[in-house]
Amino acid sequence: METGILKFPAHLLEGYGRYLGKGFVRYKETHERLAVYGQTPEVMVVSCCDSRVTPEGIFNVGPGELFVVRNVANLVPPYEDTEGQHGTSAAIEFAVEGLKVKHIVVMGHGQCGGVKAFRENANAPLATGKFIGRWIKLLEPAAIAMACMPIDKADDPQLAMEYAGIRQSLKNLLTFPFIEQAVQQGVLELHGAWFDIGSGEFRVMDPETGKFEPVRPEANLG
Ligand SMILES: [Zn+2]
Repeated sequence: METGILKFPAHLLEGYGRYLGKGFVRYKETHERLAVYGQTPEVMVVSCCDSRVTPEGIFNVGPGELFVVRNVANLVPPYEDTEGQHGTSAAIEFAVEGLKVKHIVVMGHGQCGGVKAFRENANAPLATGKFIGRWIKLLEPAAIAMACMPIDKADDPQLAMEYAGIRQSLKNLLTFPFIEQAVQQGVLELHGAWFDIGSGEFRVMDPETGKFEPVRPEANLG
């Protein structure tokens, strides 16, 4: 008879076996150090749940280097002093107040399903009982801000909305009193970025203009 443990996806266990043989061995000392001394990541990344956008893979980093929170459409809600379970805000609080990260990167991406759902339902909102519909309402101020901002007019509407969502999340980060304070003190920097799934292109937001510019460091084959 099949026991519960055998129902665990076999390909994940095979992958874990390869990880033990390669990845864990490669980072064995790092793991031991992290277990003893704890984590001290300098960078927090707010990324989308999308399986095609993996922060650790894109930035080619090992364990202990990135503090990552992923949610639908890489959104940061505004600061709220209300009852309720605010998962993303809890992660942000821990990163800034507990770990004292020096950077928060809000990383959007192309073909974002969460952004697409918002755009397609702008005139016919998803049922209020649906979690995604309620969550992506966070993009509403971004859509309003986008309408007043001509810089993305040349881009396609999906891309423009992806950019606007990133800008809004950066704006929302500053509504957290401890973030505003850390930024003013110069101990925390906020960054916007965007990743293209098909080409691997990476764009960084210019904080002065709000524009996203491609960055092309030399591909390192080492
Ligand atoms: Zn997405």
